[in-house]
Amino acid sequence: MNFNGWLNDRLAKTRESGLYRTLRTMNTAPSPEMYVDGQKYIVFSSNNYLGLANDSRLILAAEKALHEFGVGSSGSRLTTGNTQWHQNLEKRFADFKQTESALLFSSGYLANIGVLTSLPEKGDVIFSDQLNHASIIDGCRLSQADTVIYNHVDMEDLEKKLKETNSSRRRFIVTDGVFSMDGTIAPLDKIMSLAQRYHAFVIVDDAHATGVLGENGRGTSEFFHVFPDVVISTLSKAVGTEGGVVSGSKVFIDFLRNHARTFIFQTALSPSICAASYTALEIIEHSKEKRQQLLIKAKRIKTSLQEMGYTVKGDHTPIIPVLIGDAHKAVIFAKRLQEKGIYAPAIRPPTVPIGESRIRLTVTADHSLKEIDYLLHAFKLIGKELNMIK
Ligand code: PMP
Repeated sequence: MNFNGWLNDRLAKTRESGLYRTLRTMNTAPSPEMYVDGQKYIVFSSNNYLGLANDSRLILAAEKALHEFGVGSSGSRLTTGNTQWHQNLEKRFADFKQTESALLFSSGYLANIGVLTSLPEKGDVIFSDQLNHASIIDGCRLSQADTVIYNHVDMEDLEKKLKETNSSRRRFIVTDGVFSMDGTIAPLDKIMSLAQRYHAFVIVDDAHATGVLGENGRGTSEFFHVFPDVVISTLSKAVGTEGGVVSGSKVFIDFLRNHARTFIFQTALSPSICAASYTALEIIEHSKEKRQQLLIKAKRIKTSLQEMGYTVKGDHTPIIPVLIGDAHKAVIFAKRLQEKGIYAPAIRPPTVPIGESRIRLTVTADHSLKEIDYLLHAFKLIGKELNMIK
């Protein structure tokens, strides 16, 4: 079989299983109301939790750095790509997360891979939550250490598995801070206690919690008042830009700089992105009210949907997964929402377990109450039409 014929056959199987994916084009800048493929929608699927992705203060900061440093960094951090903006941002981020030091990666995905492939060694064991993000799963797969998966936020199962492993092996517990598909908050206080009892190190992926959880938006650690050994964040959600950041002790960051291959061999982020991210952190620390508004809006959507009769998963975060069950039905639901001018995706297996397909809503601080009420009204109409609610 020729190359393209072989791939067409494989894609046909992807289509048959209902998992074929296509791209949609955003015709306008991130905001609750956007044009997607030329159509106007209210978007309830963005990670732009604080509305910073199109904030004029970030744009101005990026613009200034663009004129000073150009568009691309043109090298890895260890060769010619390092600028004062990379260093300023790392220092600012470490202050923000209240750690000694921080290190930038090109994305959160690469930060997770970098940590998990450099820190745990052969003979070590990584304990990973069943619902951790794909980048953690890939990091575990690429690591020389063994991986043990524990049931989602199940502390009894984690403890049982910690007990079962030989205590002479170094152990790492890795968890999302806020789980991206379920909106659950990891019980970090309990994880830290178990880690102390069983001599394990704790690694937290705070992608969806950075800027959102905690009094000052510092994330899951601030929410629980604990200090894990390693915190991995992305700048691509509440911070509104892009890139990954690892924060921790000075010696750990020095270690990563020397051993994390996704740091060493990647071209540095554009200085303009770093400058915009720096400004975003200044804003985030003073956005207490916006954070409160965000969580109030999330609660309003969640409780209203529950009152209508929907099963809504997760804790109190801006991620609101509405359980539909059947994958086909979830697709129909998402389509009906689109027909009503609402953009929110159906999440199906293998991203979520079979029978747990869902509409994953995310809310941002910039959604108006009118937009939220419109969403709720649409859920009521569609739910009745599809015989899901009374
Ligand atoms: N971790 C989690 C929990 C995420 O949701 C994401 C983004 N989808 C990432 C890591 C990857 O971050 P980035 O988009 O910066 O690569």
